[in-house]
Amino acid sequence: MPETRKILIVVMDGLGDRAIKQLHWKTPLQSAVRPNLNWYAEHGSSGIVDVIGPGIRPGSDTSHLSILGYDPYEVYTGRGPIEAAGIGLVGKKGDVAFRCNFATVDGKMVVTDRRAGRIKEPDTTELVKAFDGLTIDGVEAVVKEATEHRAVLLLRGPGLSAKVSDADPHGSSKVHDVLPLEPEAKKTAKIVNAFVKRSYSILNDHPVNLHRASLGLPVANILLPRGAGMFPEIEPFEDKWDMTGACVAGVSLIKGIGRICGLEIIEVPGATGGLDTDMIAKAKAAIHQLESKDFVLMNIKAADIASHDGDPVKKVEVIERLDEMAGFMRQNLPEDVVVAFVADHCTPIEMQDHSGDPVPLTIYCEGMVRDTGATFDEAAASQGGLGRLRGKDIMPILYDKAGRSEKFGA
Ligand code: ZN
Ligand code: ZN
Repeated sequence: MPETRKILIVVMDGLGDRAIKQLHWKTPLQSAVRPNLNWYAEHGSSGIVDVIGPGIRPGSDTSHLSILGYDPYEVYTGRGPIEAAGIGLVGKKGDVAFRCNFATVDGKMVVTDRRAGRIKEPDTTELVKAFDGLTIDGVEAVVKEATEHRAVLLLRGPGLSAKVSDADPHGSSKVHDVLPLEPEAKKTAKIVNAFVKRSYSILNDHPVNLHRASLGLPVANILLPRGAGMFPEIEPFEDKWDMTGACVAGVSLIKGIGRICGLEIIEVPGATGGLDTDMIAKAKAAIHQLESKDFVLMNIKAADIASHDGDPVKKVEVIERLDEMAGFMRQNLPEDVVVAFVADHCTPIEMQDHSGDPVPLTIYCEGMVRDTGATFDEAAASQGGLGRLRGKDIMPILYDKAGRSEKFGA
């Protein structure tokens, strides 16, 4: 056995489910043909995991923090900073980030299209350039385009607070005045309100919008911030675990989690974060990263998408593709890698949203004690030797299997 091993965590987003009548009271995972995931369960150890805690419904962001060994209650400050980090805008402690929509307003500041006709790049890329170097009352306001009609606003300056309400009215009404939700947030609320007004004056007559108007398209003449969050101070993964690490993910939110924890984000052609994602390309990228890195976190979003769509047949199909990916790993993963297959939360088809049910986990490496379980699913995993764990227990277990943990005591 090598002195230390490397670690790969494969997160199959939203994989876990509940018994579904349409599938004869089986879960989609139980219904799928999955010889490779079963092989891993048969040759490894399994358990079930309350990713945050029993009955807690995790978001994908908080659950991934937990899987990486962080306490989300300590380090999670909202979606704004994660989305910002997802598109490469990593702030420092004290910076406040917002998710924004490019929207259309009339002359009375009433929102007529909350997505500005689903404007996207390269128009949005051109529009954000007009915000370069913007400061308001000595506070830097950095704007960056995200996917489609979305953008991120990052405020940097002294005395900011994230306790402010949204400018986005979330519907067709007048743009909301941003209100302070605590006395210390007055300054920030004032700045965000000023920013919204400025965005209108910057965007309304912008050449991109004049062009859109000439084509009869809705203009993107305002930015509507929402979901304020203070950038957290997170101990870099490399310091916390003394391992170099990379993150292979298609969706921006998970890239944001990886980036905020200091993992290198690997862009994989064909990794769309959608149902059409190239899972084998992602597996290849993860294996390639393990040649030089100690740790890789991989996320495949597709099962979660099928669940949110409420489509059990599609979810079974996705799981069978995940199984092919697991087969590729069986063939190609080097022997010195400890691999874990897990979900970040259950997304029951019937709920079309995340639930607080525990998720299945299987860990495999050479020399692993083989549990009696010969299948990988929610029920079989609950019989496994790893028992019932919390998400934060996963890293210490893998760390120990990798021969990296220190002895406690003599
Ligand atoms: Zn998720
Ligand atoms: Zn989801």
